[in-house]
Amino acid sequence: VSRKWKTNYTSINLGNDVYIGGKEKTIIAGPCSIESEKQAESIAEHLSQQGIKIMRGGVFKPRSSPYAFRGLGIEGMKLFHNACKKRGIKIITEVMQASQIEELYPYIDIFQVGARNSQNYNLLDALGKSDKPVMIKRGISGSIDELLYSAEYVFSAGNEDIILCERGIRTFETSYRNTFDINAIQVLKDKTHLPVLADPSHGVGIRDYVPGIALAAIVSGADGVIYEVHPTPEKALSDGQQTLNFQESEALIQKIKVLERL
Ligand code: PEP
Ligand code: MN
Repeated sequence: VSRKWKTNYTSINLGNDVYIGGKEKTIIAGPCSIESEKQAESIAEHLSQQGIKIMRGGVFKPRSSPYAFRGLGIEGMKLFHNACKKRGIKIITEVMQASQIEELYPYIDIFQVGARNSQNYNLLDALGKSDKPVMIKRGISGSIDELLYSAEYVFSAGNEDIILCERGIRTFETSYRNTFDINAIQVLKDKTHLPVLADPSHGVGIRDYVPGIALAAIVSGADGVIYEVHPTPEKALSDGQQTLNFQESEALIQKIKVLERL
């Protein structure tokens, strides 16, 4: 995945004129977890009104506590798919284990590998045999080179449609959830031809700081952002503290569009 090997940057074509990597910045938004038909529909409608073409949302959730909400599973995937399909929106969702690849496949456009699975080499090998794009998140304590090696697993198994995602790392700092590594954006863009997205929601973990990190990442050369949005973040079943409401989401989208024109 090195630029020594391929000098021009990779652009991933999702069909219907939706690309990740290239001239335009990609905006992906959606809830941490798909919670209900009503919630999925209202978020898909918000994205559609804002011209956002890719929705995120987890149905298999890797939670720190096994007693927390762990997602609606494949039934949630179906209602997520329905909400997006009728609006022409593409879908990214997390795949937690190789056995889920096949069941998720008909409903999704991009497989997300979460931070906790960033070095699950069996999962990466299996996704390397798929023909759908894979977004790999940086591990919670993962180095930049480890993230690149994770991408090599998918690439060398035959799948070259890979997106990298900086989502913050664990440091000694306790004033916020994770330390978004702004340096990683420029380092990754130097080292690899793959598209690089920023996840400011997990990257900082505090709603009010999410837009600032998103904009900083864009200015640093990220190919786009992936953030969490919910009609009522305070009632969200996961990650509400770092989730934007529709108004905040719209304001962020407008600011990203201003930056794009610079
Ligand atoms: C998520 O995207 O909701 C998620 C669980 O992220 P991460 O794997 O970065 O913690
Ligand atoms: Mn989340």
